[in-house]
Amino acid sequence: MSIYKPVIGLEVHVELNTKSKMFCSCSADYFGKAPNTHTCPVCLGLPGALPYANKEAIRKCIQIGLALNCTISEDSLFERKNYFYPDLAKGFQISQLRWPLCVGGEIEVESDFGEKSLIRINRVHQEEDTGKLSHLGGVTLIDFNRSGVPLVEIVTEPDFTDSSQIRDYAKKLQQIFRYLGVSNADMEKGDMRLEANVSVREVKSEEGRGTDFELPNYRVELKNINSFRFIVAAVEFEIKRQINALEAGEKLHQETRGWDEDKKETYLQRSKEEANDYRYFPEPDLPGIKNQELRIKEIQDGLPELPSARIKKYIDQYGISKTTAETLVADESLAELFDGAVKLGLEENVPVKEVANYLVNSPTLASHLKGGKLNISPDEIVQAVKEKKSGKIEDEGELEKIAQEVISENEKSVNDYKSGKESAIMALVGGVMRKTSGKANAIRVKQILERLLL
Ligand SMILES: [Zn+2]
Repeated sequence: MSIYKPVIGLEVHVELNTKSKMFCSCSADYFGKAPNTHTCPVCLGLPGALPYANKEAIRKCIQIGLALNCTISEDSLFERKNYFYPDLAKGFQISQLRWPLCVGGEIEVESDFGEKSLIRINRVHQEEDTGKLSHLGGVTLIDFNRSGVPLVEIVTEPDFTDSSQIRDYAKKLQQIFRYLGVSNADMEKGDMRLEANVSVREVKSEEGRGTDFELPNYRVELKNINSFRFIVAAVEFEIKRQINALEAGEKLHQETRGWDEDKKETYLQRSKEEANDYRYFPEPDLPGIKNQELRIKEIQDGLPELPSARIKKYIDQYGISKTTAETLVADESLAELFDGAVKLGLEENVPVKEVANYLVNSPTLASHLKGGKLNISPDEIVQAVKEKKSGKIEDEGELEKIAQEVISENEKSVNDYKSGKESAIMALVGGVMRKTSGKANAIRVKQILERLLL
């Protein structure tokens, strides 16, 4: 029997949250606005209109590249990707092929089995978004508000071998975009879109996960998937479909497929017998982009502390568990709140671990995760941790006295426990906790009760 291994690469598109569009001064804040109100001759592709590049967008693209450990090209260039489709009126998209802004990065991902691996980033390049088509009962409407909104594309090497790595990668990218403040990366609004290239290769024997194997001679593109859950489901379906086809002796072809969430299966959109010829050529209306070392260093120095570095700091320096650290870092405002409370707490000798545990278990976090605000200040957190601490009954003698009371008041539970029903002791622990208004340590109380009932 053959063994098949998935070979998966990912392309992520992210819309930048700049004020204006990529090549004109129209507002890029188009979501939910009346159709075709954010347009001008440039983003409508009218003849003779000249584009000029948005510096802020280029800066944000470089920030993403640096966060993904890419090399920033000192010389970069825009190119025309020519194709005919009504979503871009000018007949081409301004993009980058041969001279992308950022090349050759990497990021660590973790699978559901806890296995860590490095995913190589091929490139991070700058381009523009297209208009939006709506198909309504035989008529197609076009809204050009989105046309020309800055878009960054991040392309990996085909290094994924498991769908859970893809989920981790996409979530990490989303966190990075939010920490950098370059995009809201809201999947539902289409700020962030995922595409996977999936194929499987037959391996004769169980070999290492090297990257020097020969790629399969086909790949299936899964396009425009707008949720983490759907991409995982689509990739898993596709791996099974392809393995079944190969085992049945079928030949697989280059094709584009979509995801049908109702049927839980992928479906054929377009088979590509020949490669697309976009006839890329340098954009004559835009000058090349020069990124001097000094400017790259200045952008690098201005990067915020990224999620991975923060998690590492919390674990290594503060001794916080990995799960707690990941919870605190998942959201930048939460991590900021935590950092603020830690700083204040250190001045008052409040242990960092207790601050972390308080915050992770607090009702404000629970409501925040459901979309509410984090309505607590660092100072309130520190005070709450201190009160809880000073309110604890640490005095062993006092606890023992209360435990004795509870024992004499609960004859039945005591007898049950003594006759071998060990769980009966929990009723007594509960009695002590009630009498102390929860200010005792339940584990300590249980130990005291066990000793008294020997
Ligand atoms: Zn415009």
